[in-house]
Amino acid sequence: MKEDKNITPMLAQYHKIKDEYPDCLILYRLGDFYEMFYEDAHVGSKVLNIVLTKKKVGKDKYIPMCGIPYHSAESYITKLVMSGYKVAICEQLEDASKAKGIVKRDVIRVLTPGTYFENEKLKSGLLAIYKNKGKYFFSYLNLSTGEFIGGVLNSDEIVSFVGKFQPKEILVRKKSDVEDLLNHFKYIFVTELDDIYIDEEIQKEFYSFFKTTHIYSFGFNTGEEDVLIPMSIILRYVRDTQKSFLPFIGNPKPYREDQYVRLDYSAQKHLELITSFEGSFSLFDVIDRTLTGMGKRRLKFFLLHPLKDFTDIKNRQESVTFLVKNNSIREKIRGILDQIYDIERLVSKVSSNTSTPRDLVGLRESLKKVKLLKGMKNSVNTELLKECLDSIEDFDWLIEKLDRFLEDDPPIHLKEGGLIKSGVDSDLDNLRNIKEKGNDWLNSYQIKLREETGIQSLKIGFNKVMGFYIEVTKPNLKLVPDYFRRRQTLTNAERFITDELQSFEEKILSADEKIKAIEYEIFMKIREEVAFLSDRIGKTAQQVGIVDALQSLAQIAVEKGWTKPEIYDGYDVEIKEGYHPVIKEFMPDFVPNNLKMNKKSFFHVVTGPNMAGKSTFIRQSAIIILLAQIGSYIPAKRGKIGVVDAIFTRIGSGDALAKGLSTFMVEMLEMANIVNNATERSFIVLDEVGRGTSTYDGLSIGWAISEYLAEKVKVKTLFATHYHELTQLEGEIKGVKNFYMDIFEDGENIRFLYRVKEGFTNKSYGIHVAKLAGIKEEIIKRAYEILFYFEEQRDKKIEEDIYFVKQQKGSYLPDIKDLPLFKEIDELESDEYKHILDEIDKIDIGDITPVEALLFLNEIKKKIKKIRK
Ligand code: ADP
Ligand code: MG
Repeated sequence: MKEDKNITPMLAQYHKIKDEYPDCLILYRLGDFYEMFYEDAHVGSKVLNIVLTKKKVGKDKYIPMCGIPYHSAESYITKLVMSGYKVAICEQLEDASKAKGIVKRDVIRVLTPGTYFENEKLKSGLLAIYKNKGKYFFSYLNLSTGEFIGGVLNSDEIVSFVGKFQPKEILVRKKSDVEDLLNHFKYIFVTELDDIYIDEEIQKEFYSFFKTTHIYSFGFNTGEEDVLIPMSIILRYVRDTQKSFLPFIGNPKPYREDQYVRLDYSAQKHLELITSFEGSFSLFDVIDRTLTGMGKRRLKFFLLHPLKDFTDIKNRQESVTFLVKNNSIREKIRGILDQIYDIERLVSKVSSNTSTPRDLVGLRESLKKVKLLKGMKNSVNTELLKECLDSIEDFDWLIEKLDRFLEDDPPIHLKEGGLIKSGVDSDLDNLRNIKEKGNDWLNSYQIKLREETGIQSLKIGFNKVMGFYIEVTKPNLKLVPDYFRRRQTLTNAERFITDELQSFEEKILSADEKIKAIEYEIFMKIREEVAFLSDRIGKTAQQVGIVDALQSLAQIAVEKGWTKPEIYDGYDVEIKEGYHPVIKEFMPDFVPNNLKMNKKSFFHVVTGPNMAGKSTFIRQSAIIILLAQIGSYIPAKRGKIGVVDAIFTRIGSGDALAKGLSTFMVEMLEMANIVNNATERSFIVLDEVGRGTSTYDGLSIGWAISEYLAEKVKVKTLFATHYHELTQLEGEIKGVKNFYMDIFEDGENIRFLYRVKEGFTNKSYGIHVAKLAGIKEEIIKRAYEILFYFEEQRDKKIEEDIYFVKQQKGSYLPDIKDLPLFKEIDELESDEYKHILDEIDKIDIGDITPVEALLFLNEIKKKIKKIRK
């Protein structure tokens, strides 16, 4: 295309722009449309499901094209960006009718999945990562709130971070630096940066933007200095892409995982804190009683960042308690919050110049309510609430100014006038006066014409296309004087203009244009003033968010009759009649359960048949501890919670398959993480660990892990398992206790009671279920005969096995090298095997069907057989 020497000037301009933004779809403004050309047109028409057409660019020459109307571009652009494309908006920079030659055009903004911040659907966020010596220096910017944080994390922690903050786009030098991360988060958009992004200049830019000379001034410590790199990367990227639409960016803040309870990505997912598995509700969905956008974000943050520090928890709990106990104050606060808009987003829009006049009015009204909220500070007497309300700023003079300047019900558009009140600007008032007087003049001119012509039905009118006109109906046309000039003919009337009316029209229209221009200018000035205050308004908004999150915790506690847990610095956990807050919501007769853990009983093996309620019980226990540590009340009759430092979960197989790893491998990765990181003060929930493999592998690993966690780490653990053999650990290891889910047997029928009891049962009730399903009586009878035989055999064998396993602990294997796995490694070093290993390595698990896999395996087996011969 570019080689083509005979291209039109427009195409030349297009190519020049495309060359500057090669990784973007170019939306090229042509009159009332944004057009895409060439390959972009193919992509656009496919993604947007619009017609692919052709543009003529010379004699018999056409290029592919598709277009979207300028006026409804937003929804199309959203779709493109959500589908993972970068979109460069290329605008006409001068009035097409006044341009000499080709109209000047340039890219005014680039929209990417991480930067399209004013779009509610996208909830954009940008993450930049700089990997150095195995550490992840990162920074995260939420463009719609201006939150800008950074720090250094290890590989597990960065996964957890991404789970919590859900950025839409990652900026990184090489994609391979974040491969592990992308295993967990397939759909995050990755932007690989040129090396120019990591140079000296970029750091200078950063310092001058934030008017400082050292990263320490934001509270970063030694060892964290390299955070400057991802922070500067984000800053430059956002400036490069957003140009004059740059949103508010708050001062950088350090983010440190170790302030909070460790909550790995798997725990966030398995406990369904913010997002749930398909079709159900998350914990957040059920407990959210916030009333503002800031509050929602803050409550989510609370849930994902339970506190570790005993006094911090007490502090927050104290404020929640205050709001629980003082109904009228809580209601009053809620009443105020309900009228506050999402100030953080509004500020961001104002800064980026994407705000409408209505946004500013919304901000003004919200700031009035914020002032009311601050006024509540004498009615509260807890430290945290007082502190929040105290740090709220009242922006009296700004409110006053916005009140004085802005119309209360302005139009959405900036350039149509009607935004600014009278009394603000004398030029504006004068022009408006002229316009108004114009009305008087028109009235008297109409009267004069009627008298002059004797046409009583003569009317003066106005429309946008024609301007002013004098309308005379057909029967009166004979009375029209010579100096009327014809403008338009209608079915029943004719329209005319006179010199006098025309000069009036010019005067009025120019006044109108001037009015709009002045209003726009004034508006932009106010906007700038507000933008200048972004940082301060943003800080106030954050405090409002905290107050909102606290009242939400109080509100749900009151609504649901939750109780205040006793938080203490010791080891024990005791929950009386606790329930799962999400499941209970849809199951009013949910059966509550107790949990009691202390140094004598902290590793609980929970058995019971399928569907008996094991998973629910162990998850609810983790959720209750988590709620207690964010300062919330808990869904239980009573609770005493020794503060934990981490909550680990290993539950179900989740989306393991989608990740292309075998279920068992995923399980073991998560187990490795738990075993390596759990301390005596952690809390672990294990659900059916070992299920993804053959009985004996799973059992052995489950057993060995249990021994380790109970004996060495002494960590509070709930282990739901179908391996009855594990109940043998009780009595062998101090602290291990058995529990089971109670079942009511009524002849051959069973009923789940969902009650956790001490001890264990061996029964699996599978045949009961078969009977319930309607399988013939004689088959059921025969099944029982067989079952009894096997159970008897099994019980005998288990006893023997267990005796052996216990006896052999530590002595069974003299040398680890002799283990089957390690022995084979030598053999695998040979060249023939290496060849086979290479072949296996080449396979993309995500890209192979089960049948292909079997065939492949068969081939491999044949080859091995050959070698071994
Ligand atoms: P398991 O893990 O033992 O197979 P689940 O915990 O998945 O069982 O529970 C299965 C179903 O039983 C749940 O979906 C819920 O409908 C019901 N259930 C679980 N616990 C309770 C309870 N405490 N009270 C009432 N129903 C419950
Ligand atoms: Mg289960």
